Amino acid sequence: MANIQLDEFHSLLAIVQSIDVGVVVLDRDYQIEVWNTFMENRSGILPAIARRKVFFDVFPEVDPAWFRQKFESVATLGTPSFSTWEQRPYLVRFKNYQPITGLEEFMYQNITMMPLRGLTGITEYICILIYDVTDVAVNRRQLQAANEQLQRLSSTDRLTGLYNRGHWEEMLRVEYARHRRYESRASLVMFDIDHFKRINDTRGHPAGDRVIQSVAECIRENIRDSDLAGRYGGEEFVVLLPDTDKKGALIFAERMRACVEALSVVHDGAEIRFTISLGVADLSLPTTGYAQLIEWADQALYASKAGGRNRVTAHEPG
Ligand code: GH3
Ligand code: MG
Ligand code: MG
Repeated sequence: MANIQLDEFHSLLAIVQSIDVGVVVLDRDYQIEVWNTFMENRSGILPAIARRKVFFDVFPEVDPAWFRQKFESVATLGTPSFSTWEQRPYLVRFKNYQPITGLEEFMYQNITMMPLRGLTGITEYICILIYDVTDVAVNRRQLQAANEQLQRLSSTDRLTGLYNRGHWEEMLRVEYARHRRYESRASLVMFDIDHFKRINDTRGHPAGDRVIQSVAECIRENIRDSDLAGRYGGEEFVVLLPDTDKKGALIFAERMRACVEALSVVHDGAEIRFTISLGVADLSLPTTGYAQLIEWADQALYASKAGGRNRVTAHEPG
């Protein structure tokens, strides 16, 4: 029986040593009793050196008044207490080594303090758990920054109700960063109305506007909620299809082409028929940045124009 318990104890110790969470045990005088490998590696201080030192002396960045208050309430109430990175970015300042979030200098931390009771039932020690939440914090902060940026740009185009170019590009930037992080798929479809100048010249500018609006309606009929459609230029449109590969994007593009070809805009009692040329690019090839995706789609669109218009072309490597 005793042996089994000892085995379990050793297993538990091995787990505590190997987990990616900082574990520190303090006595009631804030002196370090023991800490695990995570703490040793991040602080560069051996447990034997840290032992019996007062926690704030080892980590001068800790606010003693705040820490004491939290500590004493855990000790006297006998219940755990938590603190998140949003309340306080970190308890102890450790360097951030995470490759993805390498831009942040320090490790964001969530903290749990728990009472450890002795056999008498009295809290003799307090255990502090330090969780590295840098990736969560950095993602959240980037998202917040992007959202603020988005609000500054007014987001939609008046004529079509689609996103305007600035807003759409900002969303592409965010989506591209997400792609880089999670290697998700994404495709871009770009298109331009064929011989649009002719429509303007022969039917007048308001007729041209109606044509542009009707293309936007085609887009709305064919996209999913997660797709991001924008008016990129005068009669140029872009649709970003998150989590969609090139094959899916080509299907969407062809549906758009057919939808516009079937449109009949009646202006001043006369019917206007027209077509679009489309280019498709996706993120299956390595990219240098989101601008490259636009460039590729634009090249494919140009190939559609050169090839006779009213068609879809996919960007091909090389
Ligand atoms: P292509 O097939 O090569 O695309 O020929 P195109 O005549 O469509 O040529 P281009 O794309 O260069 O023509 C764009 C024209 O669209 C020029 C501009 O006067 C017109 N335009 C831009 N914005 C608007 C708008 O908001 N309303 C109207 N009616 N016309 C616009
Ligand atoms: Mg154009
Ligand atoms: Mg055009």
